[in-house]
Amino acid sequence: MIELKINNKSIQAEEGTTILKAAESLGIEIPNMCFMERYSNHPSCMICVVKDQNTRKLLPSCAMPVMNGMNIITEDEEIIEARKDTLELLLSDHVGDCEAPCKLSCPAHMDIPLMNRLIMEGSHQEALQVVKEDIALPLILGYICTAPCEHACHRKQVDDAVSICQLKKFVAKFDLDSKKIYFPEKNTPSNKKAAVIGSGPTALSAAFYLTRFGHEVMIFDKHAEAGGSLIKAVHDHTLPVEALYSEIDYLKDFGLKVQLNKHVKQEAFNDLKKDFHAILLATGSENSNQFSINQFDKQTYTTNLEGVFAAGSIVRKEKMAIRCVAQGKEAARSINEFLNGKSFTNKEKRFNSKFGKLLASEFDEYLKESTRDDRYTPENGKIGLFNMDDAIAEAKRCMHCDCRDRLNCDLRNYSEQYKASQKKYLFGKRNEIKKNIQHEFVIYETEKCIRCGLCIDITTKDKEHTGLTFIGRGFDVRMQVPFNYPMSKALTKTEKKCVEACPTGALAFK
Ligand code: SF4
Ligand code: SF4
Ligand code: SF4
Repeated sequence: MIELKINNKSIQAEEGTTILKAAESLGIEIPNMCFMERYSNHPSCMICVVKDQNTRKLLPSCAMPVMNGMNIITEDEEIIEARKDTLELLLSDHVGDCEAPCKLSCPAHMDIPLMNRLIMEGSHQEALQVVKEDIALPLILGYICTAPCEHACHRKQVDDAVSICQLKKFVAKFDLDSKKIYFPEKNTPSNKKAAVIGSGPTALSAAFYLTRFGHEVMIFDKHAEAGGSLIKAVHDHTLPVEALYSEIDYLKDFGLKVQLNKHVKQEAFNDLKKDFHAILLATGSENSNQFSINQFDKQTYTTNLEGVFAAGSIVRKEKMAIRCVAQGKEAARSINEFLNGKSFTNKEKRFNSKFGKLLASEFDEYLKESTRDDRYTPENGKIGLFNMDDAIAEAKRCMHCDCRDRLNCDLRNYSEQYKASQKKYLFGKRNEIKKNIQHEFVIYETEKCIRCGLCIDITTKDKEHTGLTFIGRGFDVRMQVPFNYPMSKALTKTEKKCVEACPTGALAFK
């Protein structure tokens, strides 16, 4: 037996045990991407480095066997820096988008590719559910959103952007016209009351999510009609009044209450503070000076008054309705945490690998996952509505630019954990994206491969006929099928194992 210390804990381990395994038996987790039990391990990713305090040397724990007297530490500043550096090197020639550019450009971060996939399959209500996770007023926005997502859409480079805004409008209308309208499940009633002052896009959005969180919500508006700045869109003939009414009615049916002709002045405001556990000021730009607010935190939407929050144009004039709707949602989250007695932790932004624009030579690679049809436009343009066939056909134009592994990718998770930057070692031209879709079930995206070798080990050990191999040298090494055989010959029985072992989205199920 070998005796050593890991993070100051003494341990005995059998000869030949790796430091990684020995640490694991002590409940100490060491990050790793290219290690898999019972397969030959050649340390390639080096994220598993640890330090032997005796020699001050960094060692790859997935391959280094334990030795008598070792005094290992698994984390300190130098180790963290080394891991971060390793990740940054890997990211420097990693070409992939974790999230699709459309989603990242939507101020509400709606999961657009997922919505499109569901529409494509004819699952329109499921598509609407995806939309409602992030956008409370999809029908209204379907008319008036300036669609920053479409400006960022990769398909725009090929021909025309996917008609995302119309697709969202289509699922919203489809649902409101259906026999069984979708209402999200509410959390258990909290017995907490929230007042929302104003009834424009920020207010309605916040009220929707607050109701969903299980709070009792009352909207107050001094006008005779609900809608705030949306009324102007009705007068401008960009938003049909029926669309506005139907979504306000939907919100009332969901459970929130609206009091119109109620001008909340300072005195009434003081009373509201007694009657409600939280107040959101979302009155738009017109009466921002009315309340005694002199401090505002744009991360948490809190103000200098305890339990009083502010969002939308009352804080800063917002031209885009979608920004107001997004802020309403975020403010609702903050208020919910406050009502639950927690301090609001604005979630840190996720790490996103991004490669920017498509190269002309990559259009065909991306079109492999979509149709080549021209963009569909409803009759009457922006004010019109898709019919079902055109909506499905338009959704099929989406090239699904998000990564299939975005929720499980080790490279993404560790890059986030170690705050790695993709730009640090970026230089020169990037590699061209290739999508190998020849296999019936598996897609291989070469530029997402981090050359861990796991798939190669699996196909070798499990005696695949051609298996997989590394081809090329240095930075240009790529995992490939030998002799240009098709992927279907390389993965005849190990595809599941290989996809599951792949630490990134390089090998994924279609
Ligand atoms: S493989 Fe991982 S890091 Fe790369 S694009 Fe996909 S999710 Fe992001
Ligand atoms: S093609 Fe689809 S996934 Fe890609 S950016 Fe456009 S809408 Fe988003
Ligand atoms: S494709 Fe193979 S070599 Fe490349 S990252 Fe995935 S498992 Fe590793």
